[in-house]
Amino acid sequence: MAKKKDIAIDYSSDWNFAPAPESTAHIKLKKKYDLFIDGKFVKPKSGKYFETINPATEEKLADVAEANKADVDAAVKAARKAYDNEWSKLSGKERGKYIYRIARLIQEKAREFAVIESLDGGKPIRESRDIDIPLAAAHFFYYAGWADKLEYAFPNRKPQSLGVAGQITPWNFPMLMAAWKIAPALAAGNTVVLKPAETTPLTALKLAEIIQEAGLPDGVVNIVTGYGETGSHIVNHKDVDKIAFTGSTGVGKIIMKAIAGTNKKSTMELGGKAANIIFEDAPIDQAVEGIINGIFFNQGHVCCAGSRLYIQESVYDIVMRKLKDRMQALVVGDPMDKNTDIGAINSKKQLKVIEDYIKIGKKEGATVYQPKCAMPKKGYWVPPTLFTDVAQSNRISQEEIFGPVLAIQTFRTVSEVLAKANNTPFGLSAGVWTDKGSKIFNMTTKLNAGIVWANTFNKFDPASPFGGYKESGHGREGGLHGLEPYLKFDA
Ligand code: NAD
Repeated sequence: MAKKKDIAIDYSSDWNFAPAPESTAHIKLKKKYDLFIDGKFVKPKSGKYFETINPATEEKLADVAEANKADVDAAVKAARKAYDNEWSKLSGKERGKYIYRIARLIQEKAREFAVIESLDGGKPIRESRDIDIPLAAAHFFYYAGWADKLEYAFPNRKPQSLGVAGQITPWNFPMLMAAWKIAPALAAGNTVVLKPAETTPLTALKLAEIIQEAGLPDGVVNIVTGYGETGSHIVNHKDVDKIAFTGSTGVGKIIMKAIAGTNKKSTMELGGKAANIIFEDAPIDQAVEGIINGIFFNQGHVCCAGSRLYIQESVYDIVMRKLKDRMQALVVGDPMDKNTDIGAINSKKQLKVIEDYIKIGKKEGATVYQPKCAMPKKGYWVPPTLFTDVAQSNRISQEEIFGPVLAIQTFRTVSEVLAKANNTPFGLSAGVWTDKGSKIFNMTTKLNAGIVWANTFNKFDPASPFGGYKESGHGREGGLHGLEPYLKFDA
């Protein structure tokens, strides 16, 4: 039988939107950013700076200070002094006022934050404007509300703050991850030393300006920039009481080894390889949108991305046809354009990782599909990519790629798909698409994942806990569960 020709519609000639670029005229970036220690921007003792670039144009945005051991030491000292002398002595109500102030200032400057996030990270402006920044503000609002209610949140347990929290964040949701970490730490009465990722430090430094403007006592929040080595100085510092880390499983393991045998508490939010499961009774059009959102949202730079797709055999053909058609209509390109669905890959290094995995997938014998789409000449780009004819043991089905690459398999029965979905080292998230509530409940109790979405995907809320099992880490962020790791209890 002749092989069916590619069924995707070629929209490339007539599916063009007029450009709708977001203005950057109102953005004032400094040429050089120093470290934020003890309420002031100070030059690094290291004397060193590194460049942060726009991954969509490869142009330099600014020089950013690289903190060494002495700089981290100064930040921890400032955080300890602020904790002992001021922050731990303030009432919850007073702490809450400061946190509310930060939330309101983020809202006021939301447009600036969104543009800087997209310039520095490569994500489409629509996402930073509608998801990252509003959610970051929402986390500060949410935790501000808990600051004076800790006794009610944890009744009869006498909650007390820990001291100094060391926090290390990745590059995929820079501002949101900073909010996930700083807001509960402050609400619980701790002070903070935060290190943002080296490729996306600018929104955390903008947050430092807001923290100054909000009048937080000096040293309550310190922001030190640098590479992994700067992070390791925080991890190994004797006067840090808790490490909150979001990043790769590999670095998470290094950190857990480093703090083993110490009194440091830890929360680890690590990698993922989520299964998105489509049953034959699913609302197919809605599910296709969920698949697209699950893996192509934020270029697949999402720990909980739906990077494995399991389709029940009887609806495989229709799901694949609709999925390929939808992929063809995705707009890849300028992150500052409001039409863009898929922006730039965050760094040259990550681009190489993704390209290597696409080669691995082909070598493993899987069939690749990429829609026709024009790619900008400069910058780092990967078209939306899917693989069919994938085996469960293939590396593209087992390892985190952290890019817009989807590995697809089919299944016949519930027990088969459960076995396949749970067969990875990770356990962060999963998605289930079906018309039957009973099937949803059956699946959610048996999937080894910290988060299971039903008939939706990639939805976040400050009141909802987030975190994983197995190699996806331990501890939760968000909700009351996210407050608890910043507290110790008498009972
Ligand atoms: P990464 O582990 O390379 O880096 C994360 C942070 O750790 C960066 O700030 C980095 O400078 C720092 N770091 C690197 N080496 C260190 C060391 N030895 N000691 C201390 N700090 C060190 O991760 P990444 O590439 O920036 O981010 C992508 C990863 O993050 C993916 O695996 C993704 O799944 C994960 N992630 C998880 C969640 C979650 O909530 N589970 C959320 C977002 C991202």
